[in-house]
Amino acid sequence: MHVIRLATQNFRNLEDGELFPCKGVNVIYGGNAQGKTNLLESLWLFTGGHSFRGAKDAELPKLDVQKGTNTSKASLALDFHSEERDQSAVLNFENGRRNSVINGVKKKTGSALIGKVCAVIFSPEHLLLIKEGPARRRGFLDGALCQMKPGYAGLLSVYNRSLLQRNALLKDISRYPELEDTLSVWDLRLAKLGAEVMRERGKYLERLAPKVHGVYAGISKNHEEIQISYSPSVKNYVENLSLPDAEQAFLEELARTRNTDLRSGFTNSGPHRDDFEIMLDGFSARVYGSQGQQRSTVLALKLAEAELLSDFTGETPIVLLDDVMSELDQSRQDYLMNHLHGRQVFLTCCSPETVELLKTGMRFRVEAGKVF
Ligand code: ATP
Ligand code: MG
Repeated sequence: MHVIRLATQNFRNLEDGELFPCKGVNVIYGGNAQGKTNLLESLWLFTGGHSFRGAKDAELPKLDVQKGTNTSKASLALDFHSEERDQSAVLNFENGRRNSVINGVKKKTGSALIGKVCAVIFSPEHLLLIKEGPARRRGFLDGALCQMKPGYAGLLSVYNRSLLQRNALLKDISRYPELEDTLSVWDLRLAKLGAEVMRERGKYLERLAPKVHGVYAGISKNHEEIQISYSPSVKNYVENLSLPDAEQAFLEELARTRNTDLRSGFTNSGPHRDDFEIMLDGFSARVYGSQGQQRSTVLALKLAEAELLSDFTGETPIVLLDDVMSELDQSRQDYLMNHLHGRQVFLTCCSPETVELLKTGMRFRVEAGKVF
């Protein structure tokens, strides 16, 4: 897929206007705090996801400097080519809520856009994927799966709701011990939903691993080898377990940890505690990786995510790269630019000379929210 036109209205610091990118590499350059990341964010929001910077929807409309608050409305419009036809989408933010219009049809939510526009984003925040704890890595898996399989978002939210209910019950049992009889009902429910989540994540990582391996070998010129593997919180879960067996494994784990759960008032095991390991030449990338290696690792994960998304949906996702070049040496930068051939890319940087443009490249300068 590719973007034909983006229009922004009252969004962040951007001046209202339009952008007509090319099908290849679009370099967005300018000094700090001019609006480059804001521009990428406006594109990303069409995936139906949350802001990759963790911003709330109410924070996206332009700030009213006099009042010291955000204005109430912002609007984004996108013309894009996907599924062999030109399509359009509008995304409105109003009083902290979203609605959308897809090909002229009004939708009550912004999430109606999920699966329409597909994109992969790399931003400096994503380095936390390596540096921080497992929540970030689960977030990566879930974000990727939500775009690939729209039903996954629903599955995850039902699982999370059931988890909250089981945790509430665990707390109630300390006051009303007779309620413990009802715990097994929640165990069954959680195990059934959790087994599906584990299977999806396990299968996803299994498909992702060889792609990450290939991309990383290219970035590092085979200097080091990367390995990723699923570390499910349910210890007896192994690769390719059938759904009933996965459910059984989770049920057994819940039975084993029941007393700990009752004491702590929450569920200590399950997909909400999952992680995946990232190793470089057999050592943890988080503990031992250099800045450049960690950046290359995240990049490999993101580019592999894009490849898998293309395989699965038949559409090439747009690639959004925010400040990706710093900390990458020339050979890693060269690999990246060559690897991106055949995709539409939006890449931000401070000085455009550092980015070699491929044949179909374009450059846009951003200054005080205005795009030239
Ligand atoms: P850098 O090179 O430092 O990453 P950037 O060009 O990517 O800079 P942005 O993150 O896009 O910068 O932010 C540009 C400006 O937009 C910042 O000064 C920021 O404070 C401002 N900004 C953020 N949200 C809003 C908003 N809702 N309304 C108005 N301005 C905003
Ligand atoms: Mg930025």
